[in-house]
Amino acid sequence: MSIRPRSEALFAEALRHIPGGVNSPVRAFRAVGGQPFFVHSARGSRITDVDGHELIDYVLTWGPAILGHAHPRVIEAVQSAAARGTSFGIPNPAEVELAALVKQWVPGIDKLRFCNSGTEACMSAIRLARGFTGRDRILKFDGCYHGHADALLVKAGSGALTLGQPDSAGVPADVAKHTLVLPFNDVDALEALFAQQGTELAAVIVELVPANAGLYLPRPGYLERLRELTRQHGTVLIADEVMTGFRLGRAGAQGRFGIQPDLSTFGKVIGGGLPVGALGGRAEIMDYLAPLGPVYQAGTLSGNPLAMAAGLATLRELEATDAFTRLEWAGARLESGMNEVARRHGRPVQFQRIGSMFCAYFTDRPVWNLADAMTSDRAFFARFFHGMLAHGVYLAPSQFEAGFLSTAHSDDDLDRTLEAADRTLAQLS
Ligand SMILES: *Cc1c(COP(=O)(O)O)cnc(C)c1O
Repeated sequence: MSIRPRSEALFAEALRHIPGGVNSPVRAFRAVGGQPFFVHSARGSRITDVDGHELIDYVLTWGPAILGHAHPRVIEAVQSAAARGTSFGIPNPAEVELAALVKQWVPGIDKLRFCNSGTEACMSAIRLARGFTGRDRILKFDGCYHGHADALLVKAGSGALTLGQPDSAGVPADVAKHTLVLPFNDVDALEALFAQQGTELAAVIVELVPANAGLYLPRPGYLERLRELTRQHGTVLIADEVMTGFRLGRAGAQGRFGIQPDLSTFGKVIGGGLPVGALGGRAEIMDYLAPLGPVYQAGTLSGNPLAMAAGLATLRELEATDAFTRLEWAGARLESGMNEVARRHGRPVQFQRIGSMFCAYFTDRPVWNLADAMTSDRAFFARFFHGMLAHGVYLAPSQFEAGFLSTAHSDDDLDRTLEAADRTLAQLS
């Protein structure tokens, strides 16, 4: 008998009305098999499904719930904003407050424009960089994800320095050819590309800590060299901080690695669980946006008062509670515990972690790029995922997604998680 009859019935119904039963593909559990559960409610580190199972949640709505779910300060801010109206389509004070706060936290951001998702932020940043430089070509890295705009759903062509190819049906080859793709962490490939066509590149867009193919870190010196090359060639460096922004610290990954990009994109944590994105950076570039400049960008719901309220409440709470220290500590504890458990069971694992982001690859090869990540035993990951779920721990349903901790994850949660991992690995060996 199924242990999730309500979820199963809902999913069967969803399949009749929604493509694949989901509104974003990873939610369908295709990478691990089985079916998604439906959520009834969530609070703190816990999520409760419609069949009444409580799970320790390491997905956290894919990152935004850094304070845990339904944090009282955030809920109160949203309720109080909602009582004054849900959208105005003309300036409201919270937009200015949140922009000013972000500027305070991230040096190098002179101006900020809010939109509704990380996808929108990255798409607009690319258009802005093209408008500013008068160039068409952009560079991205294999395994980095920047949302689902056409120019960014591009994969490497055959061989280095060739033109990108569409990574989705429906993306014209004529659009994809303006996007070049290189492996991450390869300085030689980067230098060769810049030597050949650096002055034709409008922008390089990069996750300073790539976290959409699992999680791997930049090699020492790599980001510094990228910053030098982009500066020398008049190429706009766009740091995609949609995932890392306000998670790896007040100034995100750029603060952590001491890199100052020309533009940054945000999403996830900046909206505190409501739909928000933002792009920001040097005034000289940002002022190319309409209405001051020739680059068009707009949004009916942009700067939405509920979303701004949730973002403000989240950032203020992070600051007031010294959250980043707690998150670092919890991350370190999970890391050492997971390594210890894996060792006990003789299971090769690369437990990757920075701050409160993590990923476990089941491989004995160190992971520095997408090719390394692909060596992970994905069939084993799928079994590990289902074992953990059965023991009350919800990890991201794909090898290639990062896990997240919140300030609501307690010592007890971490103990239970390590115990679940211990039992799961015992069952699987
Ligand atoms: C999630 C994500 C995006 C896309 O954001 P959406 O809000 O899902 O459109 C872009 N870049 C990175 C690095 C992300 O993690």
